[in-house]
Amino acid sequence: MSDQKELEKIKVVLLARKKELEEAITQLQSEGGAKIDQVQDQADQALSSAFETLKSSLHNNEYEEYKMIEKAIEMIDAGTYGRCIDCQQLISEKRLLSYPNATRCLPCQEKAEEEREKNSMQSYF
Ligand SMILES: [Zn+2]
Repeated sequence: MSDQKELEKIKVVLLARKKELEEAITQLQSEGGAKIDQVQDQADQALSSAFETLKSSLHNNEYEEYKMIEKAIEMIDAGTYGRCIDCQQLISEKRLLSYPNATRCLPCQEKAEEEREKNSMQSYF
């Protein structure tokens, strides 16, 4: 089955990305240990805390992607990978190679992003 070969290819991409993320997350965690001591005055402190916020949001993004990739690999192993979680259609191979952790086909993804935007707007008000 050629599908299986495609999935193996995608799995290799995912495993490589997973390893990269593991390294990035480990590095961010070890950097987090060496801080604060060097903070000198208020301006530095403000800058430093802004930087910490940025770093922790980066950390979250990477951790989120990591979890998504883990899930995608699980789905490949379970044989459920490559199908849209919303409409159950096969996601195109081209899309999976550009976005290996895609869990939706393009139209459903666009719809989901619109919804998410709407929801995040609402949470501000
Ligand atoms: Zn879909």
